[in-house]
Amino acid sequence: MKKLSIALAVAALATAAQAFPDKPITIVVPFAAGGPTDKVARDFAEALRKPLNGATIVVENVGGAGGTLGANKVAKAAPDGHTLLLYHIGMATSPALYRNLPYKTLDDFEYLGMINDVPMTLIGRSTLPANSYAELVKWLEANKGKVNLANAGLGAASHLCGLLFQQGTKIDMQTVPYKGTAPAMTDLLGGQVDIMCDQTTNTTGQIESGKVKAFAVTTQKRLGTPALAKLPTLDEAGLKGFNLTIWHGLYAPKGTPKAVLDQLNAALRAALKDPEFIKRQEALGAVVVTDARLAPAEHKKFVAAEIDKLGVAIRAAGQYAD
Ligand code: ASP
Repeated sequence: MKKLSIALAVAALATAAQAFPDKPITIVVPFAAGGPTDKVARDFAEALRKPLNGATIVVENVGGAGGTLGANKVAKAAPDGHTLLLYHIGMATSPALYRNLPYKTLDDFEYLGMINDVPMTLIGRSTLPANSYAELVKWLEANKGKVNLANAGLGAASHLCGLLFQQGTKIDMQTVPYKGTAPAMTDLLGGQVDIMCDQTTNTTGQIESGKVKAFAVTTQKRLGTPALAKLPTLDEAGLKGFNLTIWHGLYAPKGTPKAVLDQLNAALRAALKDPEFIKRQEALGAVVVTDARLAPAEHKKFVAAEIDKLGVAIRAAGQYAD
């Protein structure tokens, strides 16, 4: 009798899992199309198809407010696994930056596992009269308060990096927010803004082709990719202790059934082992996650620790929005 009920329970679980996905899955990217997070998401969506039995996966860009608009959309979506969020470190900076965040970061999502870690680069328009980090700082000092620093809005990685950079150099700049660093990059290429911190997934090609000037990387160690290996770290260039890497993770609305969450976590783990995905990420300077943060509980623990750690720097800067 007991054996039979276990068999029935296993069969029921299998049916629930088989029923998913029964329509296209939407991955919400909370930034503009063509930018660094969008690029990660489109490659990841491709790798995720196979382990989800060839499911249709659509990427939807919902940019604005540093990624919090897109995150809110997923927090309020039907918890059936068909609407997911691919968001980065902004998940952990926004609780300190927004007084009225319309969702609870740790309570309103199911954590599905982390995807990658991406370094950032400090770049400038090609017409900038500086060819090294030291020359850049001199130029910034001479133009205090007038320099245009682009970012993807309060809570974006580019915002956090710019904030830490201004704190470190003690040079104030005019920040210019966009819905993502894709449109910000367009304006940097056009010379409408002066400098920006952006992820290597968006800057590697532009640096390689000489369309932007690159001054430093934000990681503690120099990077290994050919285009970026010659760049100093901000730490060695003078901002002691500067160390910033942008992580991405996958999220579902709170209340998504356990069988679906398990299936999505297994699919995420399989996607991150896809050789084509790994190759594309490595070429752009990103490192695919292979550690304990692949487990939902560890992913959530990591984000909670990041909220505490980053909150200190953000509160010290006194920045917030309603
Ligand atoms: N990840 C953002 C984007 O995709 C940029 C940022 O966070 O700075 O546009």
